[in-house]
Amino acid sequence: MWIVPEAAVSGLITAEASFDAVEATFAAMARGDAYNFPVIREAIGHADALYGFKSGFDRAGLHLGLKSGGYWPGNADKGLTNHQSTVFLFDADTGQCRAIVGGNLLTALRTAAASAVSIKHLARPDARVLGMIGAGHQSAFQMRAAVTQRAFEKVIGWNLHPEMLSRLAQTADELGLPFEAVDLDRLGAEADVIVSITSSFDAILADAQVRPGTHLACMGTDTKGKQEMDAALVARATVFTDEVAQSVSIGEAQHAVAAGLKQPTDIHVIGDVINGVHPGRTDAQEVTLFDGTGVGLQDLAVAAAVVERAIAQGVAVSVDF
Ligand code: NAD
Repeated sequence: MWIVPEAAVSGLITAEASFDAVEATFAAMARGDAYNFPVIREAIGHADALYGFKSGFDRAGLHLGLKSGGYWPGNADKGLTNHQSTVFLFDADTGQCRAIVGGNLLTALRTAAASAVSIKHLARPDARVLGMIGAGHQSAFQMRAAVTQRAFEKVIGWNLHPEMLSRLAQTADELGLPFEAVDLDRLGAEADVIVSITSSFDAILADAQVRPGTHLACMGTDTKGKQEMDAALVARATVFTDEVAQSVSIGEAQHAVAAGLKQPTDIHVIGDVINGVHPGRTDAQEVTLFDGTGVGLQDLAVAAAVVERAIAQGVAVSVDF
């Protein structure tokens, strides 16, 4: 069995490789070659933490396993990442544990890759202004991945806690893009693509604030009760997701579906767009929304890529197990 420690992961995978792995995974899911098992996610009643498992099997890539972990909101005060994740990979032929991989950086990379995949396939080709809602740990990864997909000329951002906006300003600066902190009215009126990545349990962006033609990549809502977009906005948008079962239960679409404003059958998988089965955006006025709930197969795909490279580079630790 192999162990790839968290500290080794950054040298073993790029954002580009994560993008390719996630795009291929969404395509395999839509073809029926890969499927996710039901998600377990619980508020454990300790340290305000959400903890759970995401797992699945990709028959084509023979990725079998799970990601265990969750979200500890008090970790930042301890100098730790709020998300704590570990990926376990199993041999699909024998069930033996093949590898344990640090999953913190991988979670950020695969989540950013998912919204970037949605921007590639759903945003207007002429998108120039990127709007960011959220300025936590994930937001910098999201911005870096998003700007690879369109010729963005400017980033604008909003966050509930304005003192965190410096992360967005610094990341935009590193990317050579101007950044401006704006209110939500301006964000919705000026952005062509909006990425939301917060821990919100209430709608942040209202339907009336979003102009036609916008692509929304909603990445923060991954638990029952969480919400970033007004249900009416979700109802107006053409909604795509990684996995419909998660979208309607723990994703951004849960509220619109519960209110009867959207039917589960109205929600399309992004893999169908990647595979050319669904046309995706059909006109420049359409509001498209990607409900990125985060699936276990994303984690397995990037972790498997890391393990192969770690073994090849002699970085993986071998353990008799
Ligand atoms: P973080 O703790 O570093 O940052 C939290 C962000 O949410 C900050 O911008 C903060 O200002 C904002 N926020 C906190 N409480 C809020 C509230 N009540 N209303 C509005 N905004 C609020 O977290 P992070 O690592 O950046 O992750 C952000 C969110 O993304 C988490 O909720 C996490 O569960 C989610 N996430 C989703 C996926 C996925 O695949 N969909 C993957 C990773 C993380």
